Amino acid sequence: MSRLDNFLSYILGNDKKLFSEVHVDQEVIDEITQIAIEKAPIEFVALLQGKVEDDVLHVDGLIFLPGETSEQGAVMQVLMLPPMSGAVGSVHSHPGYSAQPSNADLMFFTKNGLFHMIIAQPYNLDSIESYNTFGERMGFKVV
Ligand SMILES: [Zn+2]
Repeated sequence: MSRLDNFLSYILGNDKKLFSEVHVDQEVIDEITQIAIEKAPIEFVALLQGKVEDDVLHVDGLIFLPGETSEQGAVMQVLMLPPMSGAVGSVHSHPGYSAQPSNADLMFFTKNGLFHMIIAQPYNLDSIESYNTFGERMGFKVV
């Protein structure tokens, strides 16, 4: 089944689950925390690269787009581009201590990808929150 079919059956709520666990490479976490610190107080955004295999969504890289740093809102429009190969979700930073998705974030989540991360200050592993396409919390394991 193609990735698009997978995604459609997922958002249409078919019983078959796409994945029940998310694994994120340590290197990806390191990169996210470093970039968030470097760019602060400007928000950064990137796409998550990965694949679903054996019930696990494995995130193994970041994809950066031109204009990855800009005013909030503009950032999200950049990501409304046609799906890129291997992109399974997104990560962005929040200046401040709340990693709660904004209304704009939630709208973006429902329209794009499978898994989304938000990193807030102080920009470390503990200040990352992650969500499924419905904006519900979904934890991950660092591998
Ligand atoms: Zn946000």
